[in-house]
Order: sequence, then C-alpha cells, then structure tokens
Amino acid sequence: MSAPLHSEGLAGPGPAKPHPDRPNPDRWIKVLPEGLYVEPGGFYIDPVRGVDRAVVTHGHSDHARAGNRHVLATAGTIAIMRQRLGEGAGGSLQELAYGETIRLGDVALRLVPAGHVLGSAQVVIEHAGSRVVVSGDYKRRFDRTCAPFEPVPCDVFVTEATFGLPVFRHPPDLGEVRKLLHSMTLFPERSHVVGVYALGKCQRVITLLRAAGYDGPIHLHGALEPLCDLYRRFGIELGELRPATVAAREQLKGALVLAPPGAVADRWARRLTDPVVAMASGWMRVRQRARQRGVELPLIISDHADWDELTQTIDEVQAPEVWVTHGREEALVHHATRKGIRARALALIGFEEDEA
Ligand SMILES: [Zn+2]
Ligand SMILES: [Zn+2]
Repeated sequence: MSAPLHSEGLAGPGPAKPHPDRPNPDRWIKVLPEGLYVEPGGFYIDPVRGVDRAVVTHGHSDHARAGNRHVLATAGTIAIMRQRLGEGAGGSLQELAYGETIRLGDVALRLVPAGHVLGSAQVVIEHAGSRVVVSGDYKRRFDRTCAPFEPVPCDVFVTEATFGLPVFRHPPDLGEVRKLLHSMTLFPERSHVVGVYALGKCQRVITLLRAAGYDGPIHLHGALEPLCDLYRRFGIELGELRPATVAAREQLKGALVLAPPGAVADRWARRLTDPVVAMASGWMRVRQRARQRGVELPLIISDHADWDELTQTIDEVQAPEVWVTHGREEALVHHATRKGIRARALALIGFEEDEA
C-alpha cells in the first residue's frame, strides 16, 4: 500500500483532517445521468450507458455495459466483458493489473482487489491532494475464486450497501454448503438443483462444495458453462463438471445440478424427477423471497458484504467522509454519522440487486 499523497493524517490513527487548500472531492467527482464522473480524469466509473471513457469495476451486467469507446479494467473483467458482450465490450479495452498506477488526465488511478468476483476491483483515485476509493461491489469473506478485498485508507470511501441493514448477517458459507450436502445424503434419489448466478456465485458455490469435501461430478445448465471455462483459464480449480442435459433425465436422478435462477424457477428444473430446489443468494435470508421463488432449500451465500462487513470496512479505511450507494443507504449513513464520519447517500441509478 503506497503512502497518501498529502502529508497529514492518514498514516496515524484516526481520520485525516480536512485541508483548507484541498477541494473536497465532491467538487470534482459528479453524479451525472451516465453515472459517476471523475471530471479531472475525464472518465466515468461503471457508466450506465456508453461513454467515451469508462473504468469498469467488474463484469456484472449492471456495472459492465456495452457501448463504451475506451474501457479500463482488470484482465479478468475485460475477459468477462469480451465473453458476455462480444463486439459491444468496447472500442478499445485496456487492461490494468492490480496495484499498478496510471495517469488519466490530472488523476492517478489504480485498481485494488474488491473480493467480489473474478477480476473485481476498487478504483483508487488521487487528485488535488485527496484520495477517493470507489469500492464497486465487494465482500470480505474468503473466496477461492478471486483476490481478497484490500482496505485502502482514504479521504472519501464510496461504498455499496446492498445488504446495508443490521438484519443482514450472512452465516458462514461452508455451513450453508453443508446443508446442501446433508440434504443429498437424506434424499439420494432426488436431484438437487441449485439456482446460482452465472458470474461469480456459480464458481464460488462449486469451490465451496469442493472445500467441503464433495468431489463428485457437478452438472451445469448450459448457460453456466462459458464462465466456468473462463474461470478455469484464470487458474481456478473447479473439479469435474458435466453438462446437465434434461433430455438425459434418468442420469440426473440423484445428481447435483447448478442452473441460473431463471431456469430453476421455470419448467427446466421441473422436468427433472422430483428435484430439491435450492438457491444460493444473500436474499435467502428473507424467507418470503425463498417461498416466492419456490425454494425448498435456501442457502444464504452472498458475494456482497453483509452489515458487519460494511461497518468493519468503513472502520478500516478510516475515511472522514463516506458516500453510500447501490442499495439500502440510510442505515449505513446513519451508522457512519454516529461515528463522526461525514456520510451521505449517492443517488446512482441503474443498479440491480439480483446478482447478490
Ligand atoms: Zn456485482
Ligand atoms: Zn452490483
């Protein structure tokens, strides 16, 4: 971790004092209809529509959109964008390794791991004596499929708040996966179908199953295969994966099948013989959501920080100012304010909570 640009504050304990000669970052980072705009660098972070210059935190579709002229992101994110968006991924795609600093206009920029999905990054921006960190989506739990979140001390921390309420506390993920394995031993005749998002959750659930000692074959709905192949190219071990062909329904008797949430909800999964329907998502904490989706076995596994991870991270980055976006802002703003941090909600639009 490099030293802050300005001389006072961040090295010692406690937040930095505002410097009179330093323009507050809200004077040079703006919320425009296209998204968060860093004016002195001439770029947007995760713009919601095509712009000239975009810095993309990660490959989820509400952050990585088609139609930008220049895209700067990690190699993992660019590979994901190429695979999902093809030609639309961007006019020119520039890779930046974690920790490497480049200049864009009057801004020094580097990408730091966010621990969310493969390639996910926080954007660390330094300008006019201030350091701003835009976290993108992040989590603090150990995840074999991506580099772990790195807290960076800063003057302004922009945090997501998907699970920004004290009721959201994710249980240990291995315990959730063991519930699934236990159900498989209780009902060996039934296939178990687990709803997982294609980017991140799918590969995380697979590595958790392997870590819990399950080394049998895992069957994949066709929509999940390309990103699993991509993760393997990036060196993530997933063990034996097989295509889940519903036509070969007899072979799927008693099998473990992963499928996108949409396929689990519709007839695709129902064509299996008496399946146990599971779903891996942070939202499975909310019983009503599980019921609505017809989920018999809810697994609370999230790629987003829960309440404790959010507040822990705000403590660790020691920012005197926090901007909260992308979810339930009010409780986190309140929490930070009570700790003497200047905090406000940032009204960014166009984000979905579905990949949680
Ligand atoms: Zn995401
Ligand atoms: Zn997101």
